[in-house]
Amino acid sequence: MEKTFRNYEAPDIKVAVRNHYRKMRSNQTLDYVRSMHKKYLRYDHPMGLWEAMDHLNDLIDVSDPDLDLPNVQHLIQSAEAIREDQRPDWMQLVGLIHDLGKVMFLWGSDEDGTSQKEQWGMVGDVFAVGCALPESCVYPEFNALNPDTNHPVYGSELGIYEKHCGLDALNLAWGHDEYLYQVLKNHKANRIPEAGMVMIRYHSFYPWHSGDSYRHFINDKDEEYLNWIRDFNQYDLYTKSDKIYALEEVKQYYAPIADKYLGNGPIYW
Ligand code: FE
Ligand code: FE
Repeated sequence: MEKTFRNYEAPDIKVAVRNHYRKMRSNQTLDYVRSMHKKYLRYDHPMGLWEAMDHLNDLIDVSDPDLDLPNVQHLIQSAEAIREDQRPDWMQLVGLIHDLGKVMFLWGSDEDGTSQKEQWGMVGDVFAVGCALPESCVYPEFNALNPDTNHPVYGSELGIYEKHCGLDALNLAWGHDEYLYQVLKNHKANRIPEAGMVMIRYHSFYPWHSGDSYRHFINDKDEEYLNWIRDFNQYDLYTKSDKIYALEEVKQYYAPIADKYLGNGPIYW
């Protein structure tokens, strides 16, 4: 039988996945997101890329219905598929690191949803905050649980934003995408091309890239973003398997690429 992905209504779907999304939708408000930016974007945790990869050996993403392996395996699987298709070296690197923002669990907390136990501020499909939630969110029945829904501005279609302001003007639910994007943007040695940075920042924004929502915010630039994201998404999603890699072995191939685009000094998380 062909493997299907992202089936959130499958009879054997873990209760944990549904619970995760209920908490995420209930807690991710505009105020919450703003306070997470202040709290987590301080760039005061120096750590090398490979050490960060190692730490993802200890994390299993509770929101992912398709994968029960440590997250580092998903990163290697994505990178290896991009490499097999002979795509550019920077894109292979993006595959390898795109979920590395999850290292925030090392200094995260249960109340922020950024710990091993509570992951609702770290993983899962994201949505824009400060404006109405679309029906294309996974488990849209949880949208009503978000306190901002009843806010006269934050709960309205445009919310705090202007028409066709573009994706970059939106505040998205706090998670590993935005975290890694901001960390790399702050990293002086970063040479990853714009397309790669967009792949990192928006790969979990499913209601936009797969649900076709938020059209009223889209500008010309975002059409290009969509091409990049869809190209990347096939490797993020359809490469999930039970194949296990040894990090030490793949490191030999990827280390020179990482050095080329990120330098070999520590990254400040
Ligand atoms: Fe991700
Ligand atoms: Fe991923």
